[in-house]
Amino acid sequence: MQPGMCPGSYPDWTTSPYNLPWAAGSSFKVGQGSCTGAADSHAAGTSDAFAIDIDMPIGTKVLAARAGTVTAIEGQYQDGSKQKANFVKIQHDDGTVAQYFHLTMNGPQVSVGERVTQGQIVALSGNTGDSSQPHLHFQVDACAGQGSIPVTFKNTVPNPRGLLEGRAYAPQ
Ligand SMILES: [Zn+2]
Repeated sequence: MQPGMCPGSYPDWTTSPYNLPWAAGSSFKVGQGSCTGAADSHAAGTSDAFAIDIDMPIGTKVLAARAGTVTAIEGQYQDGSKQKANFVKIQHDDGTVAQYFHLTMNGPQVSVGERVTQGQIVALSGNTGDSSQPHLHFQVDACAGQGSIPVTFKNTVPNPRGLLEGRAYAPQ
């Protein structure tokens, strides 16, 4: 299997309910794609297989990729400390849960139970937890605690197999 070519079924990107989780005007590169080698954190067959890492400077505004309700936040850890990661989790109306990880200290900009709209600023990105450089780890789980599922994004260039490692993307 080619790295980055997961066997999963990707939803049609042209009708995807997801937008890129950052603002128009910035282009960011995918540092680690989905279904990477066995030694990587998005290894094929693991619960994080369909995650993507997007390289972005600490403090970049993270936008809700899709509307939903905030189910969990963490913001107490320091950037670069290699402690646990800060995060925001948002459950969508179909039960899927988006995870935004490695946020900066005090990075969450929303509260548990809060309803958020697509494109709303939900966090500031960072470099917390098991992270070697500033980036946003984004994944969508089938439901809380379940494994990641394939996602595509509507507001950018064609991405029938999701965002590809090494490529830069910008909201359009
Ligand atoms: Zn990751």
